[in-house]
Amino acid sequence: MGEERNNVLRERGVRVTPQRAHTWQVLVESGEHLTAEEVWERAKGLLPGLELSTVYRSLEALRAVGLVSDSRLIEGPRVFEARSALHPHLVCKSCGEISHPEPEVGLRLLEALNDGSGGFEVHEMHTVAKGTCAGCAGRKEGAS
Ligand SMILES: [Zn+2]
Ligand SMILES: [Zn+2]
Repeated sequence: MGEERNNVLRERGVRVTPQRAHTWQVLVESGEHLTAEEVWERAKGLLPGLELSTVYRSLEALRAVGLVSDSRLIEGPRVFEARSALHPHLVCKSCGEISHPEPEVGLRLLEALNDGSGGFEVHEMHTVAKGTCAGCAGRKEGAS
């Protein structure tokens, strides 16, 4: 399992070090948007003695090959996730929850951007839609 995960790194030409492997593991297993500090808190548990500065460098190495994206979503620190930088975000103004629309929505947005930008080719998309999540709007139950 761990080897399989590390092969993803090797395929992208990333030299696998324990620091990078654990940074990657934390992001993949959480599936969440984490700050560098949050990644560090979790990775430290797996690799005692890990330094925050090393986590930053590992995140940068993974970002450079497109495995990790970083976004500044709200007034706050950057968050990192194990996904490409080509998807929009939904941020709830009440509880701060970060979610993704259906993948289809991101694809359509990307297509529309590429079509309407006079030949400009989009490589990254830091789109943030702010609003109210279903939970805060009290729409979670009842909506089916
Ligand atoms: Zn995201
Ligand atoms: Zn909410």
